[in-house]
Amino acid sequence: MNNIAEQLALAYQKLAKNSEQQAERANLVQLIAVSKTKSDSAIEAAYHAGQRAFGENYPQELASKAAALSHLPNIAWHFIGPIQSNKTRLIAEHANWVHSIDRLKIAERLSEQRPTTLPDLPILLQINISNEAAKSGIHPSEMLTLAKAVSQLPRLQLKGLMAIPAPGDWQRLEADFAAMQQLSTELQTHYPAATELSMGMSEDWQLALRYGATMIRLGTAIFGARNYDKDE
Ligand SMILES: *Cc1c(COP(=O)(O)O)cnc(C)c1O
Repeated sequence: MNNIAEQLALAYQKLAKNSEQQAERANLVQLIAVSKTKSDSAIEAAYHAGQRAFGENYPQELASKAAALSHLPNIAWHFIGPIQSNKTRLIAEHANWVHSIDRLKIAERLSEQRPTTLPDLPILLQINISNEAAKSGIHPSEMLTLAKAVSQLPRLQLKGLMAIPAPGDWQRLEADFAAMQQLSTELQTHYPAATELSMGMSEDWQLALRYGATMIRLGTAIFGARNYDKDE
């Protein structure tokens, strides 16, 4: 087995183990392999080890990888990075999911630009749960207003929430995950289909699972450290 396949198998083992305590949720948690800056061949290695969902942060990188790997059936691209309005077309044309919606204008453009040949685009609203000044995401108080507006747009389907809590202090992190779980419950009272909660990365996903994460996004844990100088 190559290293990526081993790392993947290990992550799935840990995921199964963590889910034992919450057996009813075991099948609801999806592992997204975050492949930003990683090569097409690294993604193919993970694909051949059984992985189907991949996360990308940069629109151009998403588009070129999706084109290069279009021969792989059922591969699913999750766009998880910040979105500028002049890049929405690349995302509308190549993503299977978008986790990082934090402005109505971006949602409107994705709605208009989603090709008619593709299914509706499932989207998540990104919440700036740690209230960081320079972070993407809406304030929790804006959630229902944005949810209402995007849920009226054609070609998009509101599926839930996403967050990237500030790293560091474990107690703070736990409070942020708990707050996200509450927001998710609140959202689902208005939008019952919006059940997804995308949170948890290589360092903290086990904690995120305890607070109801349904999608965990693992980069380093699967592909090893990223080298931005070399790979980009
Ligand atoms: C890079 C990235 C990840 C993966 O981070 P790791 O710590 O390598 O697991 C997850 N989510 C988002 C939004 C990211 O940008």
